[in-house]
Amino acid sequence: MGRSYNIVSIPGDGIGPEVNGCAVRVLEAVSQKYGFEPKITEYKAGGSAIDAYGVPLPGETLQAAQDSDAVLLGAVGGPRWDMIEAERRPEQAILGLRQGMHLYANLRPAILYKELGDVSPLKKPGNIDLLIVRELTGGIYFGKQGSYKSSEKLFDGTRKGNVAFDTESYSEAEISRILRRGFEFARIRGKKLTVVDKANVLVTSRMWRSLAREISEEFSDVELEFLYVDNCSMQLVARPSTFDVIVTSNMFGDILSDLAGQITGSVGMLPSASMGNPGMPGLFEPIHGSAPDIAGQNKANPIASILSVGLMLKLHLGEKDASDAITAAVRKTLAQGARTPDIALYGDEEEAKKITLVSTVEMTDRIIGNLE
Ligand code: NAD
Repeated sequence: MGRSYNIVSIPGDGIGPEVNGCAVRVLEAVSQKYGFEPKITEYKAGGSAIDAYGVPLPGETLQAAQDSDAVLLGAVGGPRWDMIEAERRPEQAILGLRQGMHLYANLRPAILYKELGDVSPLKKPGNIDLLIVRELTGGIYFGKQGSYKSSEKLFDGTRKGNVAFDTESYSEAEISRILRRGFEFARIRGKKLTVVDKANVLVTSRMWRSLAREISEEFSDVELEFLYVDNCSMQLVARPSTFDVIVTSNMFGDILSDLAGQITGSVGMLPSASMGNPGMPGLFEPIHGSAPDIAGQNKANPIASILSVGLMLKLHLGEKDASDAITAAVRKTLAQGARTPDIALYGDEEEAKKITLVSTVEMTDRIIGNLE
């Protein structure tokens, strides 16, 4: 066997181990068909790492991730660890991995599968197939923050009391590299790039706009559109099928990608890829969290995790045929009527007869059975 990849698997908490286990099974099955070898090693992060080591991101997990070809992550967090102080919470593992692996580009495709038309909350969703390219290691989530006691007063004389602040800060280099990723993806997709910002208010946004205009000269084949973030959230609901690639800052991308996710039906369907410079390891995970409300019940939708394997194979490891086989198997399984509860909505009785409610494991078995 020629091609071999060093994959770090981090199951995490809640439904994380359930859906990540399914993703690993699909990876193993597709690798046998397409002649490559994934060498999979499991590490802890999140709540399970806090229980075992007292920290959300143990040094050995970060080291293994940095030394790998790619990381496959389930999800972290849960009510058991909610009382822990901020720096030791499970979610810190995700921020630590993103920073430690220099993953500045977060790719979130949102596709409405035609088989799931009734699951979208939109009346006439049209053909939704868009990609959100979100900046991941800069902006307000990583800017200077703090709090202090103020002696100032509001206009009516009320004392301000304590003040807390977060800072949005972006460098030209950080903005340019993510914009370039946006243009590159638009070029190989529908040739349209929407830059989302708040340039009517924020000085950082105005820098995004002027750099986008500059870089667009190298991409004359890509149509460039600017939208304010508030308008973009409306347009995503009003005309989702007109979007191709959206590129935006960390916080705006965080919020808009959940919106884009929901209009395609269920968060259980949406994969993501986080990448750094070419040649560096990437991280692949579903966009959803650890779903404590359904954990351990074998009813989580594993498709977001399984499609994350597809993204890893296509965008990162150059195994395009294997990736396409996963997407085709997922489509076929949906077309045959298999549904986990989150996507088991249907229009009328006739349609209800065509669907079969399946568990997490059964959905995975069927997808593996449909791999060609
Ligand atoms: P969530 O995504 O875990 O759950 C939101 C809703 O979606 C729940 O009703 C859940 O049952 C449902 N859902 C999520 N994934 C599903 C799937 N695969 N199949 C079917 N239904 C699914 O978000 P939350 O409830 O806000 O957060 C729960 C925990 O997850 C928190 O501790 C949070 O911090 C953590 N979290 C982790 C990540 C991550 O690991 N990347 C991301 C978001 C939230």
